[in-house]
Amino acid sequence: MLPAAALFWLSWRSLEQDRLLEAQRIRTRSEQAADLIVTALEQRLAALEPRLREVAPAASDDAVAVVFKDGRIETRPPNRLLYYPAIPSSREVPPQAFRRGEELEFRQRDHARAIAAFRELARSPDLAIRAGAHLRIARNLRKAGLPEPALAEYEQMARCGPVRLDGVPADLVARRARYALLQELKRSVEAQREAEALARDLAAGRWLLDRVTYLHFAGEIGFQAPAEAAALAGAVEWLWTRRRETPAGRESVTVEGRPMIALWRGEHALAAGSRYVEQSWLAPLAPLLKNQGVRLSLDGASSPPQAERAASTTGLPWTVRVSSADPDADSRQFAARRRFLLAAAGILSALLCAGSYLIARAVNRELAVARLQSDFVSAVSHEFRTPLTLLRQTTEAFVEGRAGDEAERQSFYQAQARATQRLHRLVESLLDFGRMEAGAKPYRMRSTDVAQLVRGVVEEFQREMAGSGLSVELSVEPPPPVEADPDALTHAIWNLLDNAAKYSPQCRTIWVRVAGQGHEVGIAVRDHGLGIPAHEQKEIFRKFVRGAGSESNGILGAGIGLAMVAHIVEAHRGRVSLESAPGAGSTFTILLPARG
Ligand code: ADP
Repeated sequence: MLPAAALFWLSWRSLEQDRLLEAQRIRTRSEQAADLIVTALEQRLAALEPRLREVAPAASDDAVAVVFKDGRIETRPPNRLLYYPAIPSSREVPPQAFRRGEELEFRQRDHARAIAAFRELARSPDLAIRAGAHLRIARNLRKAGLPEPALAEYEQMARCGPVRLDGVPADLVARRARYALLQELKRSVEAQREAEALARDLAAGRWLLDRVTYLHFAGEIGFQAPAEAAALAGAVEWLWTRRRETPAGRESVTVEGRPMIALWRGEHALAAGSRYVEQSWLAPLAPLLKNQGVRLSLDGASSPPQAERAASTTGLPWTVRVSSADPDADSRQFAARRRFLLAAAGILSALLCAGSYLIARAVNRELAVARLQSDFVSAVSHEFRTPLTLLRQTTEAFVEGRAGDEAERQSFYQAQARATQRLHRLVESLLDFGRMEAGAKPYRMRSTDVAQLVRGVVEEFQREMAGSGLSVELSVEPPPPVEADPDALTHAIWNLLDNAAKYSPQCRTIWVRVAGQGHEVGIAVRDHGLGIPAHEQKEIFRKFVRGAGSESNGILGAGIGLAMVAHIVEAHRGRVSLESAPGAGSTFTILLPARG
């Protein structure tokens, strides 16, 4: 597991490295792209300056091209500006035209006659006189307490066309007056409508106004121009004075809190905000950006920029920011690599772990087998030693003439017989076990009366155990015959009886019961001995495995008895069941299929 962990850690480290490299690569790419963009922008601006006369920003851009001509200003697109630094002087109406009416109005305060006098002028072919007359009629009507006809008069005045009164467009004056009168009359809905219409026209640059006039009228109706439009008008005003100082140039200027770029050469000039620059100058760089896999924006980029070029480098009043065109694609690429690397590391680690585990298990098994075999050898030697010692002692007693009277000799003979029998059984057992292991144990099956067979085994077992204080209680419910190898089955039952006797040192009774159970015949051997803990109950049927209780109680054994029982019963297509609990004794039951 250690190498697996090391491998995983190494992969993780290299992944981190990869991530840093990737970030570095993206940053370098953006830096290079930023440099390219700055050069391209520089070239674009340089190429633009001599061609200023051809520039015509679209109506939606926040830019305006200007031609300064003979103290006048033309804009492209037209009506772009809220106000102009210079207004062409307009023809003034001679003041004496209205003298008669004004005398009646101001000296004699005769509004009716004053109105009549102005009415005549209102029919004049001179539009300026006509507009002036309407204005005065309306004024007199208001003084005479007739606001309604005054409103109508203002309306007529507004329709007089493009004339200016004292340099201010007549219709603007008329509409503003109408608005004020409506407010006086508390007709706020109409006043509001009038103000909105005026604001719309002011915003659309309908009138040629100077700054002071514009601010005055905008203030009157509470009109707040969009910052972009205010900035454009301010920039042109700035250009108006600046171009007198220098005949050509390019400068950044902040108007109304907005950064703008202004270029001028002779009569032609251009003032532009960030939107125009993005659409007209940066958008054409799109193919270049696409090649570089980056995105470009002026101030206020949403994604974190990877490269920036300050205003001083680009000649624009905005910081140019370059970021990855598709950060998702970048991270996808990296994520795919990471997934692959992690998966490879994972698989390798798993293989390493599995390999290590398998090797450890194999080694453990080998060790366990070696230990079991050595245990087995010492156990078998012990098993042999007891009867052999007995044989040696009795034989020595005979040789040395120590065997006393007939009765003692007789008991020696019987002990010798038992010892040889035990040795014989042990050798047979070992040979049988060897054959079973080799798969060479022959079974001679025939129809067998289990009750009779068990009775025979029990009698012989009791004979062998005579004198040890052991008794076997046999109960038989005559079962159906089974197909069995009597010798093998005898061996299996003997093993169970032998175990019951061995592992029941206190209670010297063994209960054996033979009975039919459905389609099976059961041979149960029960003792009231040590019992077997649940976790050992499966293991003890494996060869060489001995329970912890047998070792701790010093009970001899080789650990092959139950393995043989299981083998034999399996050969009879039967099974062995075990019910046991420590201290409560054990019941081993051999279940064989009944014949037919
Ligand atoms: P052995 O008796 O030679 O150790 P076996 O294969 O006959 O080998 O039995 C395996 C183990 O099962 C024993 O070591 C013992 O712990 C346990 N065992 C078998 N029979 C009994 C029994 N009747 N009571 C308690 N434990 C038993």
